Amino acid sequence: MTSTELFDGRSALWMQTAVAAPDTAPLLESTSADVTIIGAGFTGLNAALELISQGLTVCVLEASWLGFGASGRSGGQVNVGLNLDPADLIGRFGEEAGTRLVRAVSNTPGTVFDRIKQFGLRCDPVQNGWVQSAATQSVLDWQAALAEDFAKYGCELQVLSREKARAAIGSDKYLGGLFCPTAGTLQPLAYTRELARVAMERGVRLHTESAVTRLEKTNGWKVHTAQGSVSCKKVLVCTNGYTESTPVPGLEKKVVPIRSVLAATEPLSAELRAKILPGEVSFVDKRRLILYMRYDRDGRLCCGDHGPMRDEFTRTDYDAMKKRVVEIFPALRDTRWDYHWGGRIAFTKDSLPFLTEIEPGLVAAMGYNGRGVGMGTVLGVEAGRFVAGLDKEKLSFPVSSPKAFALHRWHKPGVNMSIKWYALRDHLESVRA
Ligand SMILES: Cc1cc2nc3c(=O)[nH]c(=O)nc-3n(C[C@H](O)[C@H](O)[C@H](O)COP(=O)(O)OP(=O)(O)OC[C@H]3O[C@@H](n4cnc5c(N)ncnc54)[C@H](O)[C@@H]3O)c2cc1C
Repeated sequence: MTSTELFDGRSALWMQTAVAAPDTAPLLESTSADVTIIGAGFTGLNAALELISQGLTVCVLEASWLGFGASGRSGGQVNVGLNLDPADLIGRFGEEAGTRLVRAVSNTPGTVFDRIKQFGLRCDPVQNGWVQSAATQSVLDWQAALAEDFAKYGCELQVLSREKARAAIGSDKYLGGLFCPTAGTLQPLAYTRELARVAMERGVRLHTESAVTRLEKTNGWKVHTAQGSVSCKKVLVCTNGYTESTPVPGLEKKVVPIRSVLAATEPLSAELRAKILPGEVSFVDKRRLILYMRYDRDGRLCCGDHGPMRDEFTRTDYDAMKKRVVEIFPALRDTRWDYHWGGRIAFTKDSLPFLTEIEPGLVAAMGYNGRGVGMGTVLGVEAGRFVAGLDKEKLSFPVSSPKAFALHRWHKPGVNMSIKWYALRDHLESVRA
C-alpha cells in the first residue's frame, strides 16, 4: 500500500469477512407499497422487519450498495444505547416517557443479541462485555454516579478499581473504569447483510443503487429514483450521517456528519492477545476524543478514532491513532496494520437520536452520536412500530421535534476547531494526571 491510496467503505476489513450479501438490483419500475424506507442500514432494515411482521408491504431504497453507510463500516461495538445519565433523560422527557426510554437504552445489547438469535443472523456476535477507561478522577466520579443511576433501572454497570481496570484492559495507564457485562461486538457488515437477507425472505423488497431523488406529495407519497418510483402511504427516512443527499428539506441541518477512522492489525499472536484486552472485551479509552477497540473473529485488533472532515482517508489520517494505541499497548509497536477505512457518524444538537414526524406520513429516525449499533436496532424497531400506527405513548422512544444546528453550513470548520480544542484539553489533562 502506498500513501496515495485512499481508504473508505470499500477498504473495510468487514468486506473480507462478511457473509455474502443477498442479491439486489436497482428499482427499474413504478410500483407501490404501504411504506417506503430510505436507507438500508441498521435502522432502515430493523424498521423493515418490524413493518413486514405487522402485515404491511415494504420497499427499501438504498442509494449505494448494502452497507455503504455507517452500518457497513462501524466498529461493531454493541453498547448501552446512550451516553447520557438516566436522570438527564427523565428530566428531558418526563417521568413516564423518560423511564420507558431509560429501560430501552439499558437493554440495548440484550435487544441486539436476542434479535441475532431470533432471526439466525450470521454476524459473529460476541458478548464478552465492554470496558470504558477512566484516566482522571472526574471521569471516575462520573462513572460511579452513572452506574448508581442505571442500577435503579436494572442495568448492571460495574465500577472497576485500578487493579481490575488494569486486568481487563492490559494497561496500567488508568485510574479505573466502567464495565458493562451485557455488551459485546458483532461483524457490522454481516449484520447489515443478514438483516437484509431475512427481511427479503419475509417479503421486503429491497433495491440498491436506487438513490431517492424526489418526494412527491400525492394522496400519500410518490418516492422517485432515477429509474423508477414507489407510491406509498408513508415514508420513513433512515439516512443518519448520509442525510445531505436526501430530498427532505431541512432534515440535513438536524445532524452533523463527523468522520471516524478505523484500522485493523494483522491477526495478533496468542501471546499478545493474552496481554491486550485479555478477556476480549470491547474497549473505549474515555476522553473528549475517544479511542475505541475490539478484536475481530481472527484476532485482529480493530481501533477507531475521530477522522478528518472528508469521506476518503489517506494513510497519514491514521498516524495519530496508531501512536495513541502504542502508547496504551507498547507491545504493539512492531505490529502491522492491514486494513484502513472510515465513515460518517451523525451528531445531534442535544446528543440524542430522534424519531420525528416531519409531516403526516413522513417520518425520520436517526442521530446516534456514535452509538448506532444498539440504538439503531432499537430505534429502527420503534420507528417501524410508529409508522405502523402504534400509539406514541406505547413507544419506548419519544417522538420529538429535534432542533437544527444554527450554523450548519459552517459545520466543517466548526468541527475542526472543536477537535483541536478537545485534543488540547485532553493533552493538558493527561499531562496533569
Ligand atoms: C467508523 C465508524 C465506527 C462506528 N463504530 C460504532 C460502534 O462501534 N458502535 C456503535 O454503536 N456505533 C458505531 N458507529 C455508529 C453506527 O455505525 C451508526 O450509528 C449506524 O450504523 C447508523 O445506522 P443507520 O442505518 O441509521 O445509517 P447508515 O448505516 O449510515 O445508513 C444510511 C444509508 O442511507 C443511504 N442514503 C442516503 N441518502 C439516500 C437517498 N437519497 N436515497 C437512498 N438511500 C440513501 C446511505 O447510502 C446509507 O447506506 C460507528 C460509525 C462509524 C462511521
